[in-house]
Amino acid sequence: MSLTIKKIETFPIAVPLKSPFKTALRTVTTASSLIVRLTDSDGFTGLGEAAPTAPITGDTSASIKFAVEQVIAPKLIGASLNQPERVKQIIDTALVGNHSPKAAVNIAVNDLLAKHYGVSLSEWLGGYRQTISTDYTVSVGTAAEMVGHAKQLITEGFDTLKVKVGSQSPFEDLKQVRAIRQAVGPNVKIRLDANQGWHKKQAAKMINQMAQEGLDIELVEQPVPADDFEGMAYVTAHTDTPIMADESIFSVKDALRLLKMDGCDIINLKLMKAGGIDNALKINAISEAFGVPCMVGSMIESQVSVTAAAAMAAAKANIQYYDLDAAMMFKTQPTTGGITHDGAVITIPTDVGLGIEFQTK
Ligand code: MG
Repeated sequence: MSLTIKKIETFPIAVPLKSPFKTALRTVTTASSLIVRLTDSDGFTGLGEAAPTAPITGDTSASIKFAVEQVIAPKLIGASLNQPERVKQIIDTALVGNHSPKAAVNIAVNDLLAKHYGVSLSEWLGGYRQTISTDYTVSVGTAAEMVGHAKQLITEGFDTLKVKVGSQSPFEDLKQVRAIRQAVGPNVKIRLDANQGWHKKQAAKMINQMAQEGLDIELVEQPVPADDFEGMAYVTAHTDTPIMADESIFSVKDALRLLKMDGCDIINLKLMKAGGIDNALKINAISEAFGVPCMVGSMIESQVSVTAAAAMAAAKANIQYYDLDAAMMFKTQPTTGGITHDGAVITIPTDVGLGIEFQTK
């Protein structure tokens, strides 16, 4: 049976968040992204999504739409889905960079293929577990506000909190982390994300100080600037707390380089950084060979690409940490189906493909 890609459509969406998502750099009240829909010669459809996160990926709403419609689509129309590897290569080599639009199309191709084989996306990718447990990010604010939010999250069923640090004085960071640890007690996991905010020596000092005080930090994400691989290796070598690479790792080559330098203990995979599922899984495979587990995280993305990320996370043994609270932040969803959650526990859909329906107006 010969199967080809017939049509590629894009649909911009804007979805209000339940409450504003605040980081040191920005406050997001409405999330916008682009849904991509592929249709094949059998009339099957596959969905993907790309979120514009210009400060991290360089991708904007306009650049994503242009890359999908004007660059990737013309090369992909007529491509044979009997040769999935070739289809994925066409997406990857259509243009340099542009990881988010590539991710959207790659997710849609995987959704389509899983549907054709009659399995869920997670089964298609490996099918290791049915549920995963996500953390939730404590909203940035005063120590009192952050303690309030942390306590609220625990009553909602979360047992792992992510706290953003690195954008204010280390003293303020320390004060907030201490306050949160004191308020939530010893049984809640606290992971930190410095989002590149520290210098290497400052990072090592802060992390060691927290360990000394018994703040019991589970891991620290991206302590130093993304391109400071030596800094990542320095912090990893000079602390006992596990160090996670996020913004440092976009490509398979980034991962190989940092792992060879012993530059991290964990890698955070994101579909929008890696350019889709297949490249993220290559990074996971390399990490596994180095004995380094992975986390799966996301940008502010809606149900389509967060379900894809969750399905991927559930598919692989080496993906052991989950940061997929994004889809829980939406007031409404532009789609039906996909992952469901009960407190921190996310259940992976068993329907074919992503298990998501998208009705266009
Ligand atoms: Mg991060």
